[in-house]
Amino acid sequence: MVRNFTMTIGGSAATARSSFVVEDPATGEVLAEAPECSREQLDEAMRTAADAFTSWSHDARQRRRGLESLAAVVEANIEELADLITSEQGKPIAEARGELRGVLNNLRYFATLELPEELLRDDQRVTVKVLRRPVGPVAAITPWNFPLGTAVAKIAPALAAGCTIVLKPSPFTPLTCLRFGELTRDVLPGGVVNVLSGGNELGAAMVEHPVPRMVSFTGSVATGKRIAAAAAPDLKRLTLELGGNDPAIVLDDADVETVADGIFANAFSNCGQVCVAIKRVYAPERIYDEVVSALAERARAAKVGDGHLDGTEIGPLCNRMQFERVSGLVADALSGGGAAVTGGAAVDGPGYFYEPTVITGVSDGTRIVDEEQFGPALPVLSYRDVDEALARANATHFGLGASIWTSDPDRAAAVAPEVEAGTVWVNSHQSEVPGQPFGGLKWSGIGVEGGRWGLIGFSEIQTVYVARD
Ligand code: NAD
Repeated sequence: MVRNFTMTIGGSAATARSSFVVEDPATGEVLAEAPECSREQLDEAMRTAADAFTSWSHDARQRRRGLESLAAVVEANIEELADLITSEQGKPIAEARGELRGVLNNLRYFATLELPEELLRDDQRVTVKVLRRPVGPVAAITPWNFPLGTAVAKIAPALAAGCTIVLKPSPFTPLTCLRFGELTRDVLPGGVVNVLSGGNELGAAMVEHPVPRMVSFTGSVATGKRIAAAAAPDLKRLTLELGGNDPAIVLDDADVETVADGIFANAFSNCGQVCVAIKRVYAPERIYDEVVSALAERARAAKVGDGHLDGTEIGPLCNRMQFERVSGLVADALSGGGAAVTGGAAVDGPGYFYEPTVITGVSDGTRIVDEEQFGPALPVLSYRDVDEALARANATHFGLGASIWTSDPDRAAAVAPEVEAGTVWVNSHQSEVPGQPFGGLKWSGIGVEGGRWGLIGFSEIQTVYVARD
């Protein structure tokens, strides 16, 4: 029997008159029905978020306790939530658990933070304080690649800053967030976290709604631009975490077998559906063939299958749209003279499985090099000298992440600031320590998430000037 999920509005369960189907990407079969939020329910969620804001924004102790309680609930239900992530998104269950560990870290980390306050001047004549105020109720809109991870990356800092939130996950993967709402609705005062579900029109209605003072969005560049335009008439504050086309530059001193492990893992985890995945590799001519064959060997060996099964390393693409996009980009590369050293086709049978693919014979200007493929297909390009590699890595509107792979980390660290990306790693990619900010340059975003910078993003400066003479 198909299970039904409820939205959380004002701390209570909300069903809807209509619903939409959520698929299991490993089978293509119906997994569940999610409520289609009505316009009246959106208004109600926004009203409760605005009502709850007054007391929530004034009680730092309650906020700290609230975030710790959310973490406790997630931890107590981690297996159920991991199973839901794998069921609706497709990733291997071990990666789903990893996503939830990130959720717990975020909730607990932001429980320890408070908005900063600075005393600029304090003498007999004047006291000047620079405060940070929570921005107000927030509309949060998230994608399908990390269903709960991207949502809690907004919920945790927003709540810590004193904001309330209305969340809409992707219509492809709404279930984990809806379940999070069901499990946690008694833990926080009603209206502090509202979880809705619906399609793109619901997201657009949230952005245009008069209540939220800020939109926090994670998703594609195209939608990010639409949201920025739609938020402008009301001057809503914005955080945009958008797409990337991260280059990995292999230096000529690299140990190929070692760097191939790191590059493969960071290009193919979550079936390549990571904003900050490696999406193009630049290898020096001298070791180009070795790099290609080391990556192809790992792609051939990777076990593709249902994320629930033991030993699966790469699950299906999350949905038909993405499956068709990746298939189309690979076909375009192959028809333009590229070669699939391994992979290059869908896996026979049900579900959105695609063979891990390594592509050669393409150049900058080919769609799979220039665009964000967001899937298990990786182009490898050759270069002559490092300046050329840097110029080609930077010749893009994207600027999310990048990495440099070498046996000499200091040499790479010296070059790292030349790469136009929000994060540049050396001999790593996607890694983070607690408190690390994350955001994109150029079209990859506006603002950051993570660390104290992420907290500040949910606030505005207020100066209090007290004249004493
Ligand atoms: P998407 O932009 O299609 O959709 C994201 C969300 O926006 C969904 O909830 C969708 O319903 C909603 N939406 C769509 N149109 C809208 C509109 N006009 N107004 C308001 N909301 C609207 O993105 P996607 O395909 O779900 O996600 C994949 C993209 O997300 C990739 O480009 C990926 O790189 C990016 N991403 C970025 C980060 C980051 O932190 N930078 C993290 C994860 C994913």
